[in-house]
Parts: sequence; structure tokens; C-alpha cells
Amino acid sequence: MDTVIAKLTGDTRKDDAYFAQAGEILRSGGLVAFPTETVYGLGADALNVEAAKKIYAAKGRPSDNPLIVHIADRADYAKLAREIPPAAGLLYDRFLPGPLTMILKKSAIVPDAITGGLDTVAIRMPSHPTAARLIRESGVYIAAPSANLSGKPSPTKAEHVIHDLNGRIDMILCDDTVDVGVESTIIDLSGDVPVLLRPGYITLEQLRDCLGRVDVDPAIRGVSVPAGVVPKAPGMKYKHYAPDADLAIVEGEPEAVIARINALTRDAKARGEKVGIMATEETASRYPEGIVKVVGSHRDEATVAHNLFAVLRAFDEEKVDRIYSEGFSGHNVGQAVMNRLIKAAGHTIINA
Ligand code: AMP
Ligand code: MG
Repeated sequence: MDTVIAKLTGDTRKDDAYFAQAGEILRSGGLVAFPTETVYGLGADALNVEAAKKIYAAKGRPSDNPLIVHIADRADYAKLAREIPPAAGLLYDRFLPGPLTMILKKSAIVPDAITGGLDTVAIRMPSHPTAARLIRESGVYIAAPSANLSGKPSPTKAEHVIHDLNGRIDMILCDDTVDVGVESTIIDLSGDVPVLLRPGYITLEQLRDCLGRVDVDPAIRGVSVPAGVVPKAPGMKYKHYAPDADLAIVEGEPEAVIARINALTRDAKARGEKVGIMATEETASRYPEGIVKVVGSHRDEATVAHNLFAVLRAFDEEKVDRIYSEGFSGHNVGQAVMNRLIKAAGHTIINA
């Protein structure tokens, strides 16, 4: 299929026409990729089972991995969920619209096809103006996972979406103002105690400050789910965010990490491999060999979240065989960074 590549420019007449076309495509059961504040999403009408199935086909996504439903108005929660616990209201007042997804008990209108058969639904109200406008003007709830091929790093730029999905979907709304860079925080409010299922820009510390007790799903720490155990967030069990190259994380004291990455790089080069090093503003000058890319700063790990997926994809473009990355703190937004990095590395962590 021909994919309409729509570059939003701020030129009102052109942009208005693109939004109208995107809304028409969504209402008639097609697929539109669009930017949000976290990553690009691949959207379809959430209540149209055939449309939602196209998302799974276009991404190559397993059908038991449920989709997040994107809404534009507070009243929509009560239409999609059959119970709104007080915690949802507290989170709403503090963080929404924004990069936070709530898992609630689903209402009857939500099809099983988008929840992987679960009795719950994931709902998010994005703050990004393009996303909010698309949801509102299309008049549908938009089911949208990240707009990448399943298993690949999530897209934070239009070029990433075009690379993965051109020819597989109806339209791509291009507007490179994605800010956060990692997917939304997911909190499960369907049980007695709130549970953090996926870390993101809204941190565990902030959630606890708002709600008191919040438990943490063990799968978050990068622990693989043992065979036979059903993970709470079904997406957790799949290989995720992976670049083509083999990625390893090197953790430890900063000086030891630098020395170890340099030694590993020399060994790999001696074997004839092309090596990428994911470095930081603080450390980049310390790596004399390999292809060195700065992912952000240890002093402000939000910069690392912002650039992480783009840097992994940039290494793929350079066709490196192997990537070594420094580790990050695991606190605040660093928790989201390490969660994604550990999955991207397939749990390969080297202690320096
Ligand atoms: P993505 O849209 O690619 O960011 O993936 C959506 C994530 O939300 C996946 O990891 C899902 O497992 C999770 N998710 C969606 N719906 C639910 C639900 N009802 N219960 C638990 N996790 C969910
Ligand atoms: Mg995804």
C-alpha cells in the first residue's frame, strides 16, 4: 500500500487537510502513525476489531500483547473503564494529560481483541498537541502501540517510523517534537494496591508521593519472567527495543567502566568487528576507539531517555556488530532508561 507521508509544518491550511485525512482514515478502519510526547504511536480505531487487528499485522506484534487506548477528554475514562478508583483521580489531577497510562477494569465496549483477552484496559491521555488534536478531531478512541516493527527500538523521529512502516500503513503524521523518548509509565489500578508495571518519565518516586504505597512488578528490574509465569504486563515477556547489533551494558565504578569498555572494544576490533560505544557527555572523550555516540548526560538522565532509541537506531544505520553501553542509575527516570536498556541488551550485563 502507498503510505501518505504528511509533514506537519505549522502551515494551517495544509495541516488542517492532513488532520482531516487522518481522521477519515481512522474512522474508516485504517492505520495512522502520529507523534506523542513519549514516542510515535501507530493508531487505529480502538473499538473497531478489524482495524485493531491491522495494528498487530503491520507491526508483527503477538496478538496477546494488549494495546493502550488513547483518549482526549477526562470523561472518556468512565466510558472505557467500569470502575474509576480514587487513585485514578489523584493521578489525573497531578499528572494528566501526560506520559502516564492507567490499567483499569474494562467496560463492555472495549473489545477483547485489544486487551489480549484481559478483563482490564490500558488508558492514556497524551499531552502532545498533535496527538490530542488527532484523537479529538477523528472522534474515535485510538488504540496505539509504539509505531515500530515489533522487537525494534521505539520510534522517536518520523524517519524511524518511515524506516519500519512505510508501505505497511495508511499514513504517517510527521512532527518531530517527541520529547520524553521512552514509552509511558504504566500503573495498574485494577487491584487493591497500585502496581508499577512499566517505568517511564513519571517516576516511581512521584507515584508514591501522590498515592502512598505503590508496588513494583518484578519484571521491571529486567528480571526475565520464568517460564510458565504469566506476566502482569504481557509485553514484558517479549524481546524488546533491540538493535540489530549485540548490545552489552557495562556497569560499575565510572573509571572501571571506561577501562573495561576500552578493553572490550580492542578485543572486538581485533576479531574484526565494528564496535559502537554508547557514551555520555562526561565520558565520550575517554574512548579512543570504536564509533562513539553521546546518548546524554549522567547528570540529567532525562537526556538519556530522550536520545536512547535514536542512538540505538543510529548504530544500526552504521551497521556495527556490537554495542557497549555505560549503565545508568536506575533511579527516577534512570529506572526507565535501565529497564529499556536491559531489555535491548537481552539481559547482557558486564560487571566492570
Ligand atoms: P506499547 O504500546 O508498545 O508501549 O505496549 C503497551 C504496553 O502496555 C505493553 O507492555 C502491554 O503489556 C501493556 N498493557 C496494555 N494493556 C494492558 C493491560 N490491560 N494490562 C496490563 N498491561 C497492559
Ligand atoms: Mg512498543
